[in-house]
Amino acid sequence: MKRILVTGGAGFIGSHLCERLLNEGNEVLCLDNFFTGSKQNIVHLLDNPYFEVIRHDITQSFYAEVEEIYNLACPASPIHYQYNPIKTIKTSVMGAINMLGLAKRIRAKILQASTSEVYGDPTIHPQTEDYWGNVNPIGKRSCYDEGKRCAESLFVNYNLQNDVNIRIARIFNTYGPRMSLNDGRVISNFIIQALKNEPITIFGEGKQTRSFQYIDDLVEALIRLMNSDDTNMDPINLGNPGEFTMLELARKIIELTGSASELSFHPLPENDPVQRQPDISKAKDFLDWEPRIDLEAGLKETIDYFKKELEK
Ligand code: NAD
Ligand code: UDP
Repeated sequence: MKRILVTGGAGFIGSHLCERLLNEGNEVLCLDNFFTGSKQNIVHLLDNPYFEVIRHDITQSFYAEVEEIYNLACPASPIHYQYNPIKTIKTSVMGAINMLGLAKRIRAKILQASTSEVYGDPTIHPQTEDYWGNVNPIGKRSCYDEGKRCAESLFVNYNLQNDVNIRIARIFNTYGPRMSLNDGRVISNFIIQALKNEPITIFGEGKQTRSFQYIDDLVEALIRLMNSDDTNMDPINLGNPGEFTMLELARKIIELTGSASELSFHPLPENDPVQRQPDISKAKDFLDWEPRIDLEAGLKETIDYFKKELEK
């Protein structure tokens, strides 16, 4: 049994990770300020005596004795991270400093939930880890992108300077049950709109692409990354290489829900990346991992979840 700290543990990804770590017989401490996470995501875990929740903001320091830290705390949806951009930067940067300081002090391994957004609007395709990215440092997305880039720099330098044992996961668009109804990201928006037979909001012409990974595949990869001693501590892309335009995604969701929704077109948000697809060769080599759940199977699970949520 390991003692494991998960920041952002009441969020979409964090709650699945906490559940899996508990199921594997670990003791889990979940820190969350409940900005975008919710008690509902973790309520089924509260009876477990090996699960603890603390309302805490990671921009403030924290101390506990643990062996591993998964640093997930940070709003991930553009509408949420742009709501209070300064706070987003503080969460990424001060949060990383606080958690790395803790890892250094207690000699814990620490994993950072980084993002494909460090590549910005990429000029190479698919994206490999050695690509430095194309980020507008003063654009609407910069609070998130630059915050996460700074956090990566902090992780690497705590490793070089203080020998902290780090892992950096560059996570590509991930979806599944427990995304919040008001999350604002494309999959939850489209599914909810389709289930309500409301217009599907396509931003731009819908020709931009994304690669969508189902939550269970990501959780498996995060745990493998934390447990692997075979990494060179460089960032690793975690995503599903299947690439779809937003139009294709909308049509697939309309088909799977049997919806009568029409498409409605809206302006493209500033600096919206045109194309995104992970090269996951490194994850395959280092972690012996690749995603198993294709878009259709993952969407079916997610649609079932949102159906139940809307019936509540
Ligand atoms: P989410 O918004 O559902 O979860 C984030 C959690 O962090 C929430 O519970 C929120 O309340 C908490 N939080 C935010 N700021 C905090 C703070 N200052 N102190 C304590 N808790 C705080 O988002 P998610 O999709 O679960 O994302 C989790 C992590 O994974 C984030 O770091 C995100 O950047 C990263 N990520 C997610 C995706 C994705 O597609 N979901 C892609 C790339 C990276
Ligand atoms: N998008 C869309 N309609 C929506 C929400 C998002 O067309 O209702 C588009 C958005 O412009 C982007 C893609 O879907 O091109 C993915 O957006 P999301 O916010 O899910 O993630 P990110 O842009 O951070 O990858």
